[in-house]
Amino acid sequence: MATLESLKRALRQKAKAIASTPEQPLSDTEYGAGFDILVGDSGWMTYQDFIVPQLSQLLIALLTSRIHISVLEIGPGPKSVLGYIPDHLRQKVRKYTAFEPNDLFATRLEEWLCCTSETESPLPHLENPPNIHRIPFALKDKIESGVSTRIGNDDERYDIVLFCHSMYGMKPKRKFIERALEMLVERPQGGMVVVFHRDVALDLDGLVCHLTASFPAGVVRVLNEDKVLDCFAPFVAGFTMQNVDVDKVRYEWRKECRALGRREEAHPDHILFSAPNIMAVFTQHATALPELTAQVPLIEGDKLVKNREARLYSPASIIRPTDVQQIQQCVQWALKHRVGLTVVGGGHSGHCLWPNVVSVDMGAFDQIHILPAGLDGGDLVSDSDPLVVVEAGCKVGNIIRKTMAAGVTVPLGAGPGVGAGLWLQGGIGHLARCHGLTCDAIIGAVVVSVDSSQVFYVGCVPSQHRPAGAVRPKNESDMLWAIKGAGTNFGIVVSVAFRTYAAPTYLTRNWVLPLSDNLDARLRLNDFDNLFARELPRNCSADAYLYWDAGRMQLGVTLFESSTTNSTSATPTPGGVIWGSEGDCKVVDGVELFETEMYVSGMHGGHGSGKTSSFKRCLFLKRIGEANVADRLVAAVESRPSPLCYLHLLQGGGAVGDIAADATAFGCREWDFACVITGVWPRDQDSTEVAQSAVRWVYNVAGDLLSLSSGVYGADLGPDPRDAALAAKAFGPNLPRLARLKRSLDPHNVLAYACPLPKTPLEQKLIILVTGKSCAGKDYCADVWVSEFIKCPNKSITARVVSISDAIKRDYATATGADLSRLLLDRAYKEQHRPELTMFFEEQVRQRPRLPEENFLNVVNGAADVDVLVITGMREEAPVAALSHLVPNSRLLEVHVQASEQTRRIRRGYHDGDNNDDGNKDGKTSESNLTPLNYSPLIFNNDTTGNEEAKRFAKHYLLPFFHEELQRLASMVRLIPDFPRPGIGFRHVLGISQQPGGLVLCTSLLRKHFTNDWAKVYAVACCEVGGIVFASALASQVGVPLLLIREAGKLPPPAVSVAKPPSNISSLASNNENEKRIEMARDVIPRGAPVVVVDDVLASGKTLCAVLELLEKTGIVAEDVSIMVVAEFPVHRGRELLRQRGFGRVNIQSLLVFGGE
Ligand SMILES: Cc1cc2nc3c(=O)[nH]c(=O)nc-3n(C[C@H](O)[C@H](O)[C@H](O)COP(=O)(O)OP(=O)(O)OC[C@H]3O[C@@H](n4cnc5c(N)ncnc54)[C@H](O)[C@@H]3O)c2cc1C
Repeated sequence: MATLESLKRALRQKAKAIASTPEQPLSDTEYGAGFDILVGDSGWMTYQDFIVPQLSQLLIALLTSRIHISVLEIGPGPKSVLGYIPDHLRQKVRKYTAFEPNDLFATRLEEWLCCTSETESPLPHLENPPNIHRIPFALKDKIESGVSTRIGNDDERYDIVLFCHSMYGMKPKRKFIERALEMLVERPQGGMVVVFHRDVALDLDGLVCHLTASFPAGVVRVLNEDKVLDCFAPFVAGFTMQNVDVDKVRYEWRKECRALGRREEAHPDHILFSAPNIMAVFTQHATALPELTAQVPLIEGDKLVKNREARLYSPASIIRPTDVQQIQQCVQWALKHRVGLTVVGGGHSGHCLWPNVVSVDMGAFDQIHILPAGLDGGDLVSDSDPLVVVEAGCKVGNIIRKTMAAGVTVPLGAGPGVGAGLWLQGGIGHLARCHGLTCDAIIGAVVVSVDSSQVFYVGCVPSQHRPAGAVRPKNESDMLWAIKGAGTNFGIVVSVAFRTYAAPTYLTRNWVLPLSDNLDARLRLNDFDNLFARELPRNCSADAYLYWDAGRMQLGVTLFESSTTNSTSATPTPGGVIWGSEGDCKVVDGVELFETEMYVSGMHGGHGSGKTSSFKRCLFLKRIGEANVADRLVAAVESRPSPLCYLHLLQGGGAVGDIAADATAFGCREWDFACVITGVWPRDQDSTEVAQSAVRWVYNVAGDLLSLSSGVYGADLGPDPRDAALAAKAFGPNLPRLARLKRSLDPHNVLAYACPLPKTPLEQKLIILVTGKSCAGKDYCADVWVSEFIKCPNKSITARVVSISDAIKRDYATATGADLSRLLLDRAYKEQHRPELTMFFEEQVRQRPRLPEENFLNVVNGAADVDVLVITGMREEAPVAALSHLVPNSRLLEVHVQASEQTRRIRRGYHDGDNNDDGNKDGKTSESNLTPLNYSPLIFNNDTTGNEEAKRFAKHYLLPFFHEELQRLASMVRLIPDFPRPGIGFRHVLGISQQPGGLVLCTSLLRKHFTNDWAKVYAVACCEVGGIVFASALASQVGVPLLLIREAGKLPPPAVSVAKPPSNISSLASNNENEKRIEMARDVIPRGAPVVVVDDVLASGKTLCAVLELLEKTGIVAEDVSIMVVAEFPVHRGRELLRQRGFGRVNIQSLLVFGGE
């Protein structure tokens, strides 16, 4: 299937070859007809599946720093793409300008944007009518020279400038993007120019993009009829012909379309063209490249990376640092300008270069050092064998050659030209069964952090190979763990230290077995798996190839037997018995071994003497001889699109499986064979339908085998969306940990184009409910807090304010005919409607008692993409107790904004910042109601002017929820499945104290997170073992006595006691747990003394209720008590129980919140 781009080239060539008259520009009607074909039907999928969702994401991101958006759209066509984004985003567009030179389109666009008596405008909240310029978007010099008309105010600025249709007709594209960049608002920062472009090659001559995404699966389906092709072909070519040439060219163009388009059984009347699409987003930093190239050299000449797909991309630049400091400069530059980087090792992956992204070529780091075993500065760097320090620009072949000369080796892969990507992501080779994967041999590494640009060394790195200034990072063990299998995602690796093994020689034996039919193929695979491979000792490994040659399917088998004793006598294997004597048998060393690979020497005449290109994906399989697996493997080869495609099965087991799945990041350890699905085509067919169908075949086979596989090899997976499903199965059980580490080690996503890891929401979403009386400044504070989250250094936190009362206003406007925009924006109008609005709401709740909960969930679900959601306009009393069980995976927090009556009166008069007061819980009586709250939210006193206090509040009370220490604490709570009974997932909170440093960390967090003053606390109370462990450590740290509450009968008299129902977990463990009594000493604490109750868990709240009743009996009332728990489980509604029992005014804080039991 030709791409539209190659069709365009072919059509143009054809016209040039046969026409004698000049080309004619398309008329508006001709352009419109072609455009309609392009975006109609199948072409629309690109919008639906790619452009609209990507654009929506961008707008959501923009809205974290601004309330409204202004848009300039270049060449929108008859209908802006904004018409398809979700309602809540369209409503944020306040200004819309377009340049649409096609008159017909401009008229249709204007009509579409108008609201009529029946329909609302698609952009309903524009402050002024849309501004549609019926001229092309022109460069400034053109405007100034009078070639193009100057329009409107040249100082107009926009939050987003959008090119949705491939920058049609704009050349040079870089200049147009630069012009658009000049039109971005300066404040608030973050404005962006967004380009959607057909075809991945978007050469912008060094412009650096902030973000990209690709949609390789885009297809345009065109009705195979003369009159349709006669509209479509000129549109694709970009011109038409005149006079005598019209019919001649038309005829040839139809032929060309039919020759290049693909037919599909499902659509026999259509021809299909591939229309991959790419999005590139530019910010004001797009032109920052010279700043980097002034510090770090560019590669000399053209870099020809090995991978053919990667060669198609136009990176912003490829730079070649020559020392570690220059790598640091690259990272500093990327962090400063908020752009990503790719890293080039051996250049074998399809994403080592990426369009409009700067690539860091590690080629200058090409040293290999072999060091004797022993101690270095007190560290054991290697026990018996030497170790080798390999810089990140080295290739497999060089390492083997150099180590072999010293009599040792590293277990590496089979391709001599492959680079660091192999050992950082796994490394499967013929010694894997003997010594494990390449990443298992890593004992240390030097890494430039992509968070801080610091140079770290982790594990064992001999002192002479630690760059000056390199330090051990705080999270060293995490980093070393991650490098061993997922090492392309967490930093730029400068070098690694490997343990080595004695260099072996290899005896290789080959069998080639022609297969008579599918049944024969299956039986042979079964023999290979069960009778042959399974019987092999660890020093042997068997590869199988399933391929098509000489008109039939073939099974090729190679046996590699390694030996360090120089003996050439081969271990007898069952191969001879099953298949007869092998074709050839050789003894080779590690370097010669590369040439023995069957795909290099044996199959398909050695693959056209190397004049082929390939595309691979690799899955892990068990029991390949079993019918369900073998049948699919055979079917895969049968469906090959070109004779050169094959499956390569590399044997696992042995030492690969000796290592626990979670011991290194490479989490897929349970497999018998790595199945490399290899799409191959002649090199001169690169970028043609032949190449594309081989790639499609690889993905189809991978998709088909995925459900049978026990994992996926992460190497080679990249940002291509077709890799997403495979990446989700790479790394086995380690994916959640890797996702968390990605967030902490690469928080700005500098390495955005490596093997994709799922984007974790932060450990917990934080939902802040901002409550308070009218004019206390709730909205103002909410905005300040959101911007503090967004600005939070070293974290990429997304945050947004949403008013929960907007939904009610919308319903009210529909029911009463009130003007919704004015209700939302016009304070006086809203005040006028306030009484009716309140009555309306109350009536709605009477009819639908769950309405508040529904509204709350709607707001939360609508903001699934942000880490912090700040909700204003709440009406519930004690909303955390009432609602937290609905969002059990999130931390729900109420901040009550207070201001004196006088301040509020002044603000009512002068300050319009708080324009969303209808959520005050005081309702109609808010002005006179001075009764204190009968529960205990977090209070912010907002009497001072300016935002400094609000910022300080955020720093002290809100931002700490994102502190990495809290996340570290969370990671110490293990999830134990099926405990205490099947179906229950038990969070072992008390287990924190059993982890190194766990108790110290937890105690210090309890101390720091307490929102009151420790100096005023009289005692720390605790009950049962969970509480005692944490409370006693805390009490000793803050220097107050411990108040022990124990099971009745365990404390000497005099004591007070109350009944205590079984705790949540004991009731889960046993159905007949009886109620007990708990007691405390009677006179150890004076009446009214402030007490902090510490417990490990707040679940149903029954234990804490009993404790509070006990304290009450001794004269300590709710107002004097605070509760601090290590972990809360909101599903059990503990807060609500405490409130119902009259303890609503107790201040409750929890360090962690967990969604499950
Ligand atoms: C011919 C051939 C043979 C192969 N044989 C084997 C084999 O026998 N065993 C096996 O396991 N795999 C094999 N592979 C797969 C191979 O491991 C992957 O393609 C690997 O990603 C290639 O690494 P590279 O450095 O050559 O490629 P690159 O494209 O340069 O790098 C791959 C990835 O690693 C990242 N990266 C590279 N260097 C660094 C660094 N210093 N710091 C951080 N990230 C970095 C890149 O950014 C990219 O994401 C083979 C591939 C080919 C094409």
